[in-house]
Amino acid sequence: MDIKNDGARYAFVVRWSDPMTQIVWKYQFMYHTSDRSIEMYEMKNQKTFLKRVAYPALALEQLYIGSTILVYSRQLFIEDYGDDFTRKHLRGLQETTLAMIKPDAFQHTGQILECITANGLLIKNLRMCQLSVPQAEEFYKCHRGKPFFPCLTQLIASGPVVAMELVGENALCRWRMLLGPTSAEVARIKAPSSIRAQFGTDCTRNACHGSDSHESARLETCFFFIDRKLGMCARFRNCSVAIVKPHAVTAGSAGAIINRVMENFDVTAMELAQFTRATAMEFYEVYRGIVPDFLAMTFELGSGDFIAMEIADKQNPCMNPVNKFRDLCGPADPCIARSLRPHTIRAEFGINKVKNAIHCTDLEEDGELESQYIFMHEYALDGRAPPALVSKAPCTRKIESTDSSEYSSSGTCSGTTSGSSSCSSSQSDRGPPPPRFSCRA
Ligand code: ADP
Ligand code: MG
Repeated sequence: MDIKNDGARYAFVVRWSDPMTQIVWKYQFMYHTSDRSIEMYEMKNQKTFLKRVAYPALALEQLYIGSTILVYSRQLFIEDYGDDFTRKHLRGLQETTLAMIKPDAFQHTGQILECITANGLLIKNLRMCQLSVPQAEEFYKCHRGKPFFPCLTQLIASGPVVAMELVGENALCRWRMLLGPTSAEVARIKAPSSIRAQFGTDCTRNACHGSDSHESARLETCFFFIDRKLGMCARFRNCSVAIVKPHAVTAGSAGAIINRVMENFDVTAMELAQFTRATAMEFYEVYRGIVPDFLAMTFELGSGDFIAMEIADKQNPCMNPVNKFRDLCGPADPCIARSLRPHTIRAEFGINKVKNAIHCTDLEEDGELESQYIFMHEYALDGRAPPALVSKAPCTRKIESTDSSEYSSSGTCSGTTSGSSSCSSSQSDRGPPPPRFSCRA
């Protein structure tokens, strides 16, 4: 029987942190597959919190331990299964494994992500890292002493890797099946459509890694995702920020969008993360009162996993890429994009002005600030204040207008400027640090 519609009721323990009071509430969360309905009970006071109601936006695949779901604007973190029935039925279906794109296949990250989602595996966590040789030796310590060890560890440290925690039924075996044999040359003969056959070169440069046991999956996941400073590679200069929005990640379009980005720009940092509603508002603060869709935009940005990237110019890494990258993304309104700039990312993947596939930095001076906001984890970890979004003030900012009058009849984007640069706030003028967005540990 199809597990997604088996008539079963699955139970989870979820927690919600009230952003106003900081109180953490725990709920028993029920999901009925027959009609995609949900219900919630507040656990401490044993009270009904939400009567059974159809909630078709939520799919069973999204309900796994460690996932954050959005229910009526609340971000609920799934902490555990709620009963033995759910544990027994879903544990096998929600196995996790560690996948890593090696430096030799980094340029194919988008295609590899497409392959992962096309094969029904979910990306629970993702981080791009630049490992040192000692870090690569630590990751591959089980191979220490083997003849290929020096070559392997040098390869891993030779460029960025993309570590991913994948979830799905038999995720570990399925990912290894998708990889194919260790040697790319053998893979091309025995499994020509496998990832290693397509993107690998030889026995060492074989495109991707996959855990070989549940225990190594657990250890390797901890290696990459406990210390989020490990191998941090963002540059924080001459950069723009791209965020593949939650609706596009959910639709499985992230890989195709990343392909488009990587064809045209260097990606110098990448991470899957989530904004809380509060941080989505902070990030978009400049649009408040200016863009009519402000609330809907913050809702979309805070509605689930996104993939953020730091972008640099391919030809000249010293050049500010913000405007060039905006050209690739296209007009904020995908309808306008489809008629005026049909080859842009928003024309291809956007749905409407709010679900327009990708966020891109607006102003040249904001690229570094947005990158710091997203990628500077040591601020969060060391308890230091994150950098304030200094120029993110309405008085200094050019707004991504969604009005078609912004475009001349020739299809060129003229942009709009909102007032003079009278705002002189500096980092020290700003109040306490904003709440940080969340990454899954
Ligand atoms: P897999 O990655 O398929 O699990 P292993 O765990 O045996 O393979 O090896 C780890 C990595 O070491 C391989 O992915 C490959 O990059 C490299 N490697 C393994 N065997 C060899 C070999 N005989 N010659 C060169 N490199 C090798
Ligand atoms: Mg192995």
